[in-house]
Amino acid sequence: MAIRTFQYRLYPTKTQEQALQVLLDVSRNVYNMALEERKLAWEHEKKRIDKREGYLLAKQYKKTFIQAKIVHSHVLQVAIEDLDRAFKAFFRRVKNGETPGYPRFKSYRRWDSIGFKQYGNGFSIDGRRLKVSGVGRMRMRWHRKYLGDIKTCRIIRKAEKWVVNLVCETADPLPLPPTGRVVGIDMGINALITTSEGEQVHNPRWYGEAQAELRRKQRTFQRAQMGSHQRKKKLLDVQRGHHHVKNQRKDFFDKLVYKLIHTYDVIVIENLKIANMVKNRHLCKSILDAGWGYFKRRLLDKAADAGREVILVDPAYTSKCCSNCGAIFEGLTLAQRWVVCECGLSLDRDHNAALNILKRAGRVREPERCEQSQAWFRSPHL
Ligand SMILES: [Zn+2]
Repeated sequence: MAIRTFQYRLYPTKTQEQALQVLLDVSRNVYNMALEERKLAWEHEKKRIDKREGYLLAKQYKKTFIQAKIVHSHVLQVAIEDLDRAFKAFFRRVKNGETPGYPRFKSYRRWDSIGFKQYGNGFSIDGRRLKVSGVGRMRMRWHRKYLGDIKTCRIIRKAEKWVVNLVCETADPLPLPPTGRVVGIDMGINALITTSEGEQVHNPRWYGEAQAELRRKQRTFQRAQMGSHQRKKKLLDVQRGHHHVKNQRKDFFDKLVYKLIHTYDVIVIENLKIANMVKNRHLCKSILDAGWGYFKRRLLDKAADAGREVILVDPAYTSKCCSNCGAIFEGLTLAQRWVVCECGLSLDRDHNAALNILKRAGRVREPERCEQSQAWFRSPHL
């Protein structure tokens, strides 16, 4: 069995939105209260409070506060579990010798989701609507069918819009039929990706436009007077802009990964340490924006589902040596887009790197380039 999440847009009425806000507020208070308890217990008695005690705390809270009475107990338990996860992550990172921040108290702005633990207990699908305890039957947009059985859900506020994530248990996906093709992929800044077959995918056109638009929104937000109604509005504008760019990027990479998975049996990519590269100021923005981290994660996930193989290879010297004879190009700068070797090789720099990446995986020689490969990736954005 596999776990899959399906996201749908929700359209609550004004009253339902207020009810959702109550759920958010109450669960946030429980989270903050439990955090306070844990903190004090540790500071004063060197005692560790665990999840069980957190549940009891939530129960007490529910009894004490009138507002909390209508809130389903699972909503509060999920908040306690969120806190538990925050602490676990904190301790794990401390153990690894990192310097994480202590779990924070959540303000209104830092708390935007509530969860339910069991289908039919607090939430269910009623006709075409989502029925939620304490809120009622909310209108929902069914842009696709979910698969399998719904287990849990999470309702999220995203820049004043509401969505629900239905977490489902589904049958394992079927592997794709083999294509007999192997590819090496160079991830770069000039072209987003270059394959060992010489195909390139560039940064989509909307990318620069969206950046400029975001900067403009950011500026008007910063100019607005502190605490004013306008400032609130502008902030929402900025948040929406960020969500929009995020969705565009997600859509773009999802399609790219889909295409790669359907075209190749084995995909070889560089094992880039993205956390390290972000420290390099010049490369930073393009790398973060290009969403390589997302691309890699998505590729690995989808490949596993489809029965495809992804091989991660050491990225050192992939662009600096000849893919034909292995000679090292001395003094190659980032500005040089074309490489020429004494052995007769004359190639685009990134194409050469992609061939090296493929070679490094030690798999079959690159197969004959077939005619179909000319149009292996076409996007309306390009
Ligand atoms: Zn050579």
